[in-house]
Amino acid sequence: MTSAKNSCSVCEEELTPQTEAFCNNCGQPYHLNHRQDAPGKDCGQVWINEEHLSLEFACDRCLHPDQYEGGLDDVLDLAEAAAATGVSEASLAAAADGGELPHRKTGSGVYLFQRRDLPAQQGRR
Ligand SMILES: [Zn+2]
Ligand SMILES: [Zn+2]
Repeated sequence: MTSAKNSCSVCEEELTPQTEAFCNNCGQPYHLNHRQDAPGKDCGQVWINEEHLSLEFACDRCLHPDQYEGGLDDVLDLAEAAAATGVSEASLAAAADGGELPHRKTGSGVYLFQRRDLPAQQGRR
């Protein structure tokens, strides 16, 4: 094992063991101030999962993917896009075919969308 320095996946600055945490979602390291009494930088959050009484970590890229374009693989297929927006697959496909929704279509006819291009979720939030 080498002691390669980790850098934060959010701000790309160097991490130290005192400021390092790993996102449960993407597995990347990010800044988390472990001490309440010292100033520090937070590039993500930690909270207690009340069901499992375990600590959950998430970096800002995963918490706010719309603010960090390009860093994450935010490509969704039709079913995922429908789940993310609350819009039916048929109307998403129609909007894509009609040129209203930016998308990519694979050779086998699968629609791919980028999360930031999708309409905001209906109702919830
Ligand atoms: Zn950082
Ligand atoms: Zn993450």
